[in-house]
Amino acid sequence: MFSSIMAHITSPAGIAFWLMFIISWGIFLQRFIFLVRLLMLGKKEKRLDKIDERIKYFIKNVIFGQKLFDIPYMGIAHLMVFWGFLIFGIKTGCEFVNGLVGIKIPVLEWTPYVYVLDMFALLVILGLFAGTVRRIFFKPEPVKNSLDACLCLFLIFFLMITYFIGEAAGFMGGEVTVIGPFTALLAGVFMNNMAAATGVTVCHIFWWAHMSGILFFLDYIVYSKHLHLATCPFNSFLVNLEPKGKLPPSDEKSPGAGRIDEFSWPQLMDGYACSECGRCAMNCPAYNSGSKLSPQEIIHEMKVHILTEGSKMLKKNGSEVKSIIGDYIKPEELWGCYTCYSCVERCPVSNCHVPSIVQMRRKLIDKGEVDEKLSEVLNFFGRYGNSFGQSERNRTKWTKKLDFKIRDARKEEVEYLWFVGDYASYDLSAAPATLSAARVFKKAGLDFGILYEAERNAGNDVRRIGEEGLFEMLVEKNIEAMGKGKFKKIITTDPHTYNVIKNEYPKFNATYEIYHYTEILDDLIKKGHLKFNKKIEKSVTYHDPCYLGRYNGIFEEPRDILKALGVNLLEMPRNRSFSYCCGAGGGKIWMEEELKERPGYNRIKEAMELKVDSFVVACPKDISMFIDAVKGTGNDGKIVIKDIIELVAEAMGEYSQPDKKEDKEKAAV
Ligand code: SF4
Ligand code: SF4
Repeated sequence: MFSSIMAHITSPAGIAFWLMFIISWGIFLQRFIFLVRLLMLGKKEKRLDKIDERIKYFIKNVIFGQKLFDIPYMGIAHLMVFWGFLIFGIKTGCEFVNGLVGIKIPVLEWTPYVYVLDMFALLVILGLFAGTVRRIFFKPEPVKNSLDACLCLFLIFFLMITYFIGEAAGFMGGEVTVIGPFTALLAGVFMNNMAAATGVTVCHIFWWAHMSGILFFLDYIVYSKHLHLATCPFNSFLVNLEPKGKLPPSDEKSPGAGRIDEFSWPQLMDGYACSECGRCAMNCPAYNSGSKLSPQEIIHEMKVHILTEGSKMLKKNGSEVKSIIGDYIKPEELWGCYTCYSCVERCPVSNCHVPSIVQMRRKLIDKGEVDEKLSEVLNFFGRYGNSFGQSERNRTKWTKKLDFKIRDARKEEVEYLWFVGDYASYDLSAAPATLSAARVFKKAGLDFGILYEAERNAGNDVRRIGEEGLFEMLVEKNIEAMGKGKFKKIITTDPHTYNVIKNEYPKFNATYEIYHYTEILDDLIKKGHLKFNKKIEKSVTYHDPCYLGRYNGIFEEPRDILKALGVNLLEMPRNRSFSYCCGAGGGKIWMEEELKERPGYNRIKEAMELKVDSFVVACPKDISMFIDAVKGTGNDGKIVIKDIIELVAEAMGEYSQPDKKEDKEKAAV
């Protein structure tokens, strides 16, 4: 055995294969080490915890490509190619052993494996065909047809064709003993009269072509846009498993990120893993509204920044290193984001755009690069604790319209602290929903109270703007106020408040049991503790608020309440995790921007197609955004914006129509 191995290695073919192998792997490793060194410039972050959860995520999202099935036929096409890649991995490994030491591994002649391999070779070709047809005839806007993309498709096709021809010819020459049905068909149709010697020669030529193709592909991957083929499995395994609504901490000495060494290494790896599939942009409300922002471009520019500026840093040429903001990504792109999380949710390689965008916003805030209007609102937060610039005393003005007094949770012990939130407290368009909530909570027998003027904005959007200092101040004030009261749980009608208290307050040693009101009401209904006096005879559609649905997974409770009310619930095409942002999140409600079409307008148009009476929401900001969108799209009087709580109040006989004066005020909002 040893002598035959040595004879193979020292033969001309053996030497040629070894040379090819060493050169290709040498090029690959050199680039691979360079890419890893670039990642190591990033900040440390633990990503090897919760191994069992990671394995489950990996199986779901890499092995079965779950997110790819958002576009079903592309999901199937991808799996055909990806699984083919895995099945061929076994053959490729065996062929390397064969090429290096001349030993033929028996699995290559094991009929079940050969049949599966044969079937997948065909499926890979069909998968490539589907991908090519989509790129030529149905290319989505953000996807680019580059030479790189065509070369990759061609290379995979080349590997499959060389496999088929090599195996078929080898069989005719007696070199290959077992072939699959499709190879047999090829041999039968095209090589029927091939002489054995020719078969052997053709087999050898195509074997070399196949193996050279693989080694070329290896190097091509790490130097091209197809780097994702090598990095996506790692990126997905090392995915961020923290709650979606929890942003990374900010460095107090140098807030935010503008250079490679200010991002964490997993944030840098997002650039490597991006396949430029465009799915993040396709579903991005900013991109689709004609804003400057494209999440795909953000990730792409991060990659270009790493490769360009990172090389300089490795050469210790630190002084010439350019910031990513301004030189690669413009501030207006960063301010374009609604932090709706749709990009992250849709990304098949598990990239996490939102924390990177917020990190860069933090840098802008730190440098004082904020537009005038936003700066004014941030001042209001600092001075009054709310975005309306209104006094603390006005926070509870709405309670005067109730015929009962809400308990003061700072003075009396209650089961539920109702954290009302800014929009529910101050915004006139949200007042009917807030009053309905108070009446429903009372009628449902909830033991609840509020913090009155001690409540401040909970800080969710301030944090997403990137104003970390202000966020901390708001949190501390709220924690102090809540510390004065005695309560068991928190209830809120505001998904933004819900998100931040649930996911970000624990960092301040303030962990609360918090519920969105739809969770509590749904539970009461299911237990039979909440009864309705009448059925709501309306046809409605429900809009999932980003911070309730996508961020915190509350999709079914609001729908179950609506069903219990007896409404005819019709779903918009973009529902649940596909919901389309209203345009308020991430502080955008306080920013002005020239847009082709506002996200809220687009959403109302989607709802109008259903011909429903009401557009139902579960967020006070949504009410304001969609009332504006109904007017802006010329649909005034054709559809009504309601919070679910208003419908519940109506069914319980607790809803009171806003009076004429309120109507006027509401219309003026
Ligand atoms: S979070 Fe939403 S708005 Fe921001 S980039 Fe992602 S999809 Fe676009
Ligand atoms: S970031 Fe994700 S979704 Fe966006 S283009 Fe890259 S791979 Fe596709």
